[in-house]
Formats: sequence, C-alpha cells, structure tokens
Amino acid sequence: MAKYPLQYLEIPRRDPEKQPPEERVRHFGEIYGNYDGADAAQQAGRCLACGNPYCEWKCPVHNYIPNWLALIEEGKLFEAAELSHQTNSLPEICGRICPQDRLCEGACTLNDGFGAVTIGAIETYITETALMQGWRPDLSNVTPSGRRVAIVGAGPAGLACADVLARNGVAPTVYDRQPEIGGLLTFGIPPFKLEKKVVLARRALLEEAGVHFVLRTEIGVDFPFERLVDEYDAVFLGLGAYRPMRGGFPGEDLEGVCEALPYLVANINRVEGWERSPEAFIDMRGHRVAVLGGGDTAMDCVRTAIRQGATSVTCVYRRDEVNMPGSRREVWNAKEEGVRFLWNRQPLELVGHMAVEGVKVIRTRLGEPDARGRRRPEAVAGSEETIPADRVIIAFGFRPDPPPWLEATGIEVDEVGRVKAFSDSRYAFQTSNAKVFAGGDMVRGSDLVVTAVFEGRQAAAGMLELFGI
Ligand code: FAD
Ligand code: SF4
Repeated sequence: MAKYPLQYLEIPRRDPEKQPPEERVRHFGEIYGNYDGADAAQQAGRCLACGNPYCEWKCPVHNYIPNWLALIEEGKLFEAAELSHQTNSLPEICGRICPQDRLCEGACTLNDGFGAVTIGAIETYITETALMQGWRPDLSNVTPSGRRVAIVGAGPAGLACADVLARNGVAPTVYDRQPEIGGLLTFGIPPFKLEKKVVLARRALLEEAGVHFVLRTEIGVDFPFERLVDEYDAVFLGLGAYRPMRGGFPGEDLEGVCEALPYLVANINRVEGWERSPEAFIDMRGHRVAVLGGGDTAMDCVRTAIRQGATSVTCVYRRDEVNMPGSRREVWNAKEEGVRFLWNRQPLELVGHMAVEGVKVIRTRLGEPDARGRRRPEAVAGSEETIPADRVIIAFGFRPDPPPWLEATGIEVDEVGRVKAFSDSRYAFQTSNAKVFAGGDMVRGSDLVVTAVFEGRQAAAGMLELFGI
C-alpha cells in the first residue's frame, strides 16, 4: 500500500514516556520508557522520506535512517536491526545518549514546526526489541582471516573497532584497565541516562561474535605496549581523554571542592554495588551544591547531586543557554528536576577559609565568535557577586593525556596531546607508527560517543585495507 505522505500532520511527535520529575529524582534508573511496536511504527511513519536525508548526513555514523524507519513502519523489525548494525556498533546506546537535537533530529525536515521524527528513540527501540525477540547479528558469512588485532581501551571507539574487525574475520583482543567494558559509558555516564545492563548486554553480543576482553590490565603498566605491537598484526588505541581542565582561579583546593569524574564514578560504583573504597564516595546530601561548567558532564553532576538529596543545586555557566555545549534535552531534564541555572556568569574565585563557602562570579555578555564559531564571553565590569555553596564540582571538560610510551614507539601527538591520526590518511586513522591506529577522544579531544564509534569503525576499515581483506 502506498504511504500516506501527510501522516506527520495528523500524528504529532510523541517521545517515549518519561517519568515525572518527583518520581525519577528518587532513584538512579533510566527515566525514559521504550515504545511498543504500534507506537514505533506510527512514529516512524511520520518520516517524509524527503529524498535528501539531511538526518543521515548530520548523523556522524551516517545511519540509513529513512530506510530503517520504513522497515519499522512495515513491521520488519529484524531487518531494521540488521540494517542499523551496518553503520553503528552501539545503536541502542547512541539512541539513548546522542544529543539528537544537534545531530539527526536537528536536521530532520519536520523539525521546522512539526516536531522532528523521534529518530533516537526508534533507534533504541529497534535493537532493544529485536534482541528481546531473539534476533542476533547475522555472522553467517564471517570467515576467519588468521589476522589478530590488539585494542587498547574498551570505550566506544575500541568496541566499535572490535565489532567491525570481528565481523570481517579478524580476531580482536580488547585490553582495559577497568574491571568492566564501556569506558565512560560505564565509568562516567550516570545510569539515569544509560543503565549498565545495556552495556553488559552489548558485551555479550561482542563476545558471541568472537571479541576477547582482557580487563584489569593497564597497558604500559601491567603489560608493555611494545609487546602488543610485536605480537599482533596491528594495534588500535582508544584511550580516551582523562586530564581534567582546571579553572586556574584561587580556591580550587579548598575542602568541599571536587572534580566531576571522580564524583560521578564513585556514585556509579555505589549505585551498582561495585564500591571497593567507600571513602571515595562524595555525598551531596544536605549540601548547597554549585556545579561549574555547561557540558554533558556538568549536567550529569547536577542531576546526580539532586538524586543524592542536595538542598540546592546551581549550575554556573559563562555563556548563555543557547551557547551551552551540552544536549538541550539534558538541560531541560535538569530544569524539570529542580536545578537552578545561572547563565552568563564567569567564576573568578572559590571563597572560604578552610572549606569552600561560595563561588565569586562576574556577569558576562557575549562578544565576537572565537575560532570555533562560539561567541566569546566578556566580563561586565563591576558585576561581581558571590553565590553561596558548601560543595563545588568542577566540570570544565577533559583533555587527552598521552602516556609516555607513545613517543617511544614513534606515535606523534599534537600540541594539546591529541594523537595524530586522520580519516583521509592512506589507511584511515593510522598513526605515524604504521602498525598502530587510533580514534575517539584521544584523537579528537573529548567529544561524543557516536563520533568515537565512527572513528573506531573507520580505523577498523583502515586495518582491513592494510591487511588486504
Ligand atoms: P573512553 O570512553 O574514555 O574509553 C577509553 C577506555 O580506555 C577506558 O575504558 C579506559 O579505562 C581505557 N584505558 C585508557 N588507558 C588505558 C591503558 N593504558 N590500558 C588499558 N586501558 C586503558 N557523549 C555522548 O555522546 N552523550 C552523552 O550524554 C555523554 N555524556 C558524557 C558524560 C560524562 C560524564 C563524560 C565524561 C562524557 C560524556 N560523553 C557523552 C562523552 C563520551 O562518553 C566520550 O566522548 C566517549 O566515551 C569517548 O569514547 P572513547 O572510546 O574515545 O574513550
Ligand atoms: Fe541520531 Fe546518534 Fe542515532 Fe546518528 S547515531 S541516528 S546521530 S541518535
């Protein structure tokens, strides 16, 4: 039957059900439900199939979005799952945590006045539901090539690289210093955005496909990197970016001030029952908390503090709401949960004697755009004020911190510590050491799950070309 082209006029955008704020702040579980088959088909049917799929171009892995939406509208779930895995190694994860408003959904033709197709939620629905109904990736055509690749880092970049290699008959061994796979998916992003069972389910699929994990093993400490280079046909590095950026203002060492990542990780360890050092846990119960920064990490901190029972949580950011780098959906969720936002405030100092008592800020106005096109905040003279706070979380982002062994093996990094590896090299994402490839945050600086997935997949394609597969 021909598709009724104006379905979007009659059927409004409807996201999966979201728990009300007063309920969801009482736990750390995910806040969105999943579609059922009828809802997913109806929402997928809103796609105009506009002929020039801007959504596909804006999606960093270039998912075949209109094609899998059409399959879902027709009820062909397993075919949609297979197609979705042709371009994305972690579709159920990207569907949950990509900033769709800036990517696929932001580019949807219907976003202009009608409400974009719920691409992310449908992407999650496809894999989650197909798996529940017994679908498994089709690996019937895989023939072992005899090639072996070592992957350092079980974050999205390393997992995506392993996925593509395994599907092409190359045996990947993934090393990680953590006790579980996922990188920041597991030890960073809070469970209210991504429950850890989702990552564990993906681990099982990768293992079924032949990916071997060696955990609790830090390369360069527990096992020499040079041996990996010698013993394997190629090596992929997906080490992430973990050097926290500091504010550089007085008071950062006061009691009551902490960095974002240790705060979030300690909370995850407690929530998941993985805690080994209870003294690492930072409890915001009963405190007035200020979070400095405006990215995804800052949003995760404010919402974690709310769930821990903070008396008040204030997010302090030096630009305005429009220029925040984090996902708009997460800012909105944070507002609903009771977070107060102070835009256009630049921190000058953390004040207090032994312990922090407040954040001294100055108001800003936005000036000319910087090199990345974002308008520069400029201080407004005489507008200083102090925001009372007895706990402050610094969430200014991360830089790569290349380990010393890189240099010894001839791997070049740039002036800010990013490994030099490029999509347009002879072999995609090959480094200056011909046997070593790299991708994700350690190459592009801290960014997104989906861009790390893209680079891991591209690097695997580069290796396959090198091997002549
Ligand atoms: P990582 O995920 O950092 O993985 C690197 C892995 O390498 C780690 O497991 C680490 O243990 C391992 N490793 C490092 N060195 C060694 C070594 N020497 N030996 C063995 N193992 C090693 N992105 C989104 O798209 N949406 C979001 O909502 C979002 N929220 C975020 C929230 C927080 C709090 C943070 C910090 C980031 C968030 N991001 C988000 C960004 C996203 O998580 C990262 O861009 C992505 O995880 C990068 O993937 P990666 O594989 O490059 O690195
Ligand atoms: Fe959108 Fe991310 Fe899925 Fe691409 S991977 S379609 S950007 S949710």
